[in-house]
Amino acid sequence: MVDLGEGLRQAIAKLTRATIIDAKTIREFNKELQKTLLSADVEVRLVLNFTKAIEDKALKSKPPAGLNPKDYITNIVYEELVRLVGPTYLPELKKHRILLMGLYGSGKTTTAAKLAKFYQDRGLSAALVCCDVTRPAAYTQLETLAKQANVAFFGLETEKSAAKIIRLGMEKFRDKQVVICDTSGRNALDDPLIKELKEVAEQFNPDEKVLVVSADLGQVAGKQAREFDKAVKISGVILTKMDGSGKGGGALSASSAANARVMFIGMGEKLNNIEPFDSNKFIGGLLGIPDIASLIEHVQTAVKEANLKPEEMEAEELNFETFYSQLKAMGSMGPLKSIFGMMGAPDVPKETLEQGEEKLKKYKVIIASMTKEERKNERLLHDPKRIARIASGSGTSEKDVRSMISEFNKMKKLFGSIKNDRGFKKRFMNLS
Ligand code: GDP
Ligand code: MG
Repeated sequence: MVDLGEGLRQAIAKLTRATIIDAKTIREFNKELQKTLLSADVEVRLVLNFTKAIEDKALKSKPPAGLNPKDYITNIVYEELVRLVGPTYLPELKKHRILLMGLYGSGKTTTAAKLAKFYQDRGLSAALVCCDVTRPAAYTQLETLAKQANVAFFGLETEKSAAKIIRLGMEKFRDKQVVICDTSGRNALDDPLIKELKEVAEQFNPDEKVLVVSADLGQVAGKQAREFDKAVKISGVILTKMDGSGKGGGALSASSAANARVMFIGMGEKLNNIEPFDSNKFIGGLLGIPDIASLIEHVQTAVKEANLKPEEMEAEELNFETFYSQLKAMGSMGPLKSIFGMMGAPDVPKETLEQGEEKLKKYKVIIASMTKEERKNERLLHDPKRIARIASGSGTSEKDVRSMISEFNKMKKLFGSIKNDRGFKKRFMNLS
């Protein structure tokens, strides 16, 4: 079986070696992704949705300027993986009660102790209650773990009513901030277990009803989540044994698709082998990009800048040609007023604006009388003969032409100083 992360990394590497990225390369890429995801036990339906979304996104848009295709595609894959595995979970550090449920061997008892330690390490007093009344060794197991974690423990070794145990446990731990209840398991969810869990839940009134599932079940984790949810309503899932399981991605995506948010993941047998589910970290690990957050930021910045129409942003040097097209584009009073506003002078008197408009009109006809070379190379206009020709051609005076050139040079300086001001450019581009 191909490791999910390894498969994803290989597919991306192969794609980015391609010289052109077109529909055919994307489809081949998607085939690789499908193979990898299916072999990691991700549900067929999820796999197809996933690759379809990648195809749509990758073909619909081009990488924004300044972004290489590899980063772009990686980001698309990243976004879809986030959708596939669900969002990051932020544990609340407040008083609450957690009910853990799950089948035999899923890791409930271990997880109960891990959670108690997790919250205690973060400054909350934690307590464990053993409500597993089925397995003979359950009591001793949790008691031992509670000692290791240095948290309070309650249980009644021979009591058969889980509801009674939790009631007494609650009385005992009234002042504890986090109370965690471990329950009985089964080989499969059956009616007596459902009844028992419901009774415990009624006494306990938990803030979280959490299903503990082993990640090595792959997509079966999703099926379990749906079954438990239907029977006793769950608020989330903890996936254990994410260490050394190639099916982790399958379990995650299936749980997420079963509408059960993934809260924590267990990554080993030790008490500190648990962490809140962090989709960035998980996916960054899969894709072999530890710092995926900075890649995403890079992509988002590039996308934002691309929305500013890069071809306009990177406008060539200001010359009479570009000046002319800008003058034509401005045309009316509104934009000129806005431009003054943007330059930090919103209250330019009406007369000044009107004079400005007059001037701009004059400038337009003057530039219209220039040759192409003159528009592009302002130095040609140091020649008085050219100035005379332009003045008579445009029906203006030589003085008008000279003053236009000097204004233009002032603008050019101003343009140079604001050229690197993105905010200004954005506002400028939004004018038309
Ligand atoms: P329960 O029957 O649901 O209470 O499951 P247990 O907590 O007793 O765990 C069953 C087995 O799985 C034990 O051997 C645990 O040490 C092991 N286990 C639990 N969580 C993890 C984990 O995250 N990673 C690994 N590798 N083993 C785990
Ligand atoms: Mg147990």
